Amino acid sequence: IMQLYVPLNWFGTYYRLIQKNFVDMENMLELLKEKKEICDVPDAKPLLIRGASVEFRNVSFSYIPEKRVLKNISFAVPAGRTAALVGPSGSGKSTVIRLLFRFYDIDEGEILIDNQNISLVTQESLRSQIGVVPQDTVLFNNTIKFNIRYGRIDAEDHEIVTAAKHADIHQKILNFPHGYETQVGERGLKLSGGEKQRVAIARTLLKAPAIVLLDEATSALDTETERNIQVALNRVCAHRTTIVVAHRLSTIINADEILVIKEGEIVERGTHANLLEMDGVYNRMWNQQIENENEQSARQSDLEN
Ligand code: ATP
Repeated sequence: IMQLYVPLNWFGTYYRLIQKNFVDMENMLELLKEKKEICDVPDAKPLLIRGASVEFRNVSFSYIPEKRVLKNISFAVPAGRTAALVGPSGSGKSTVIRLLFRFYDIDEGEILIDNQNISLVTQESLRSQIGVVPQDTVLFNNTIKFNIRYGRIDAEDHEIVTAAKHADIHQKILNFPHGYETQVGERGLKLSGGEKQRVAIARTLLKAPAIVLLDEATSALDTETERNIQVALNRVCAHRTTIVVAHRLSTIINADEILVIKEGEIVERGTHANLLEMDGVYNRMWNQQIENENEQSARQSDLEN
């Protein structure tokens, strides 16, 4: 769902560069089609980042007038802390992330970063402070090196290698046919979901934003290596204000605050321990996941025996 935001984020900044180096028409057309009419206010100022606290104040939003997707959402993430959004599919979790990126303007309320209303600052300054690790990362039909450098176009080669190492994909790249020069994307080497997410992590590490938005992959990542992605994800979120849309509750038990969203409303909030005590929606989701995991491992051991 989030796959277009990252390109949009860089759209303005790197448009010229993309145009100069190669014209990837597919990507360009997709970008133009999705471009929404979000405008800077006439006297828009750049966003000034101190610690990057994030606040939603009574935010309501609908994509189409008939259907309210978020209803009076309020929460605050202090600088450097992590909030997690959980809830059923379609409840509005990804929408929260899209709004913080100002992909759409809200109908009511305010979204603040370090106390500045995001609709009053320049979009460029807003988006330059936010890194997104989407569910599904778009790769350019270009080298793996180019794809990582996309996070910060003026990065040196050694910085790209460091980012790849921290994103836990460097060794894999060295095993590609032409290493960092290997062509990837639809017309090149196809990367797995986990590998693409690692590219997104490496890009975000290069970008070094104050805020990280993480849209966890819906599909369970199966192999041991794919599970290890959590280490790389923790690295990209460390010391940054983070909002994570979580599908596997096990990955967010350490979040500072978990917001349970249902039909566009926050129905429960607290730490993992608080929420388990409440015996409500979260508690039921948690027990359901444990049950599913037990069933899965039972099936696994049946297969093995
Ligand atoms: P999931 O866990 O499946 O990713 P979610 O909680 O992230 O779901 P959202 O993607 O935020 O849910 O969607 C919330 C609601 O808004 C859904 O009912 C969805 O159909 C609707 N919606 C999402 N994007 C659009 C759009 N571009 N136009 C109209 N409605 C949309």
